[in-house]
Amino acid sequence: MRYQRSSALFQEAQKYIPGGVNSPVRAFKSVGGVPVFMQSAKGAYLTDVDGNQYIDYINSWGPAIIGHAHEMVVEAVKKQAESGFSFGTPTELETEIAKLITERINGIDQIRMVSSGTEACMSAIRLARGFTGRDKIIKFEGCYHGHSDAFLIKAGSGAITFGNPNSPGVTQGTAKDTLLARYNDLEQIEALFQNNEGEIAAIIIEPVAGNMGCVLPENNFLQNLRKICDENGTLLIFDEVMTGFRLAFGGAQERLGVKADIVTYGKVIGGGMPVGAFAAREEIMDYLAPKGAVYQAGTLSGNPLAMRAGLETLKIILSEKDFYLSLNAQTEKLASEVAKALDEKGIHHCINRLGSMMSVFFDVDKVQNFDEAQNANHQKFNQFFHHLLNNGIYLPPSGYETWFISSHIQDAEIEKTVEAIRSF
Ligand SMILES: *Cc1c(COP(=O)(O)O)cnc(C)c1O
Repeated sequence: MRYQRSSALFQEAQKYIPGGVNSPVRAFKSVGGVPVFMQSAKGAYLTDVDGNQYIDYINSWGPAIIGHAHEMVVEAVKKQAESGFSFGTPTELETEIAKLITERINGIDQIRMVSSGTEACMSAIRLARGFTGRDKIIKFEGCYHGHSDAFLIKAGSGAITFGNPNSPGVTQGTAKDTLLARYNDLEQIEALFQNNEGEIAAIIIEPVAGNMGCVLPENNFLQNLRKICDENGTLLIFDEVMTGFRLAFGGAQERLGVKADIVTYGKVIGGGMPVGAFAAREEIMDYLAPKGAVYQAGTLSGNPLAMRAGLETLKIILSEKDFYLSLNAQTEKLASEVAKALDEKGIHHCINRLGSMMSVFFDVDKVQNFDEAQNANHQKFNQFFHHLLNNGIYLPPSGYETWFISSHIQDAEIEKTVEAIRSF
């Protein structure tokens, strides 16, 4: 049996861990079946506890952009470990990574490290509220900004409404300050500003969405948000937890040429260690404790082991000439080969892609927002997922997720992927 040990481990895990996992998507609820327990990873490949190998198209949901267990990162982390893991004091390393990032990304003067993307986004809106003295924020349906209360909000009935809690435990009081809008729908944004004049602290957006599948901003959507924010004294927050250091070193800001007021990072920035960060120009970051009054803290923030892994990963990216050009070109090739194979089989689909992020949606012509993502044939995606899994290819286990390509995906991996699709 191909997944014998994974099945046994999942049984056992469910006794001691809610649902058997420490983050829900890992449980395969969306695609069905037993989640695969991984043993190790190297370069482009994952190996599971039954000895099966997979080409990895999740890469830990993005962080492993230079492939798994890169020798130089492993060495750097080992060396750091020998000097101690964590001191709870400032270290030079923290300044080094902050300098490396802020010097290369336009519009951010200072950066604060945290331990997850959730923390980064949660802190970013607190900072935006502290800076503007306003309470309300706008988020988009289908965008994910971590699991803090203010973001676990779904649309109420009617086109433009206050949000409703999307999880038990989120209070109505929290929900009333989060306004919902449809991705790529500028009219809804204009209406929200009309109805809440002078009350909106920030718009938070995934500048290229990755959490409803990959969805791109259309018709200068980001430029228009920038303009509306400027006109209303509202801060624009780009949640670049996925896109940061992935679409370009400077993320979507650089790739798409639009500047945000506050930017959040995660995933790639830690090179596989638990790291998040938020950054802005000095005028805004000055509001943050200990300099300013907006409180934010973390016992393990800027942790030396995590900083070392992140710093080394970013340095490797910067040291490779045309890193993003070749990563993007390779992903473009993957996308077009996948499309060709599906077309040959007469399987109706559309592929959204930017840089090294992509998603395949079945039985739809286009996906520009969450409603359209929901209209895709997710049952077919689930069959597609399991077919590829059984053929040694690991896709994200949901049609609402994005594939993250690493620089280790070469022509041989693309060929093997296409071959598997031909027998779907
Ligand atoms: C993953 C993700 C988060 C949350 O990051 P965690 O490290 O899982 O807390 C926030 N925003 C976006 C866009 C993400 O993709």
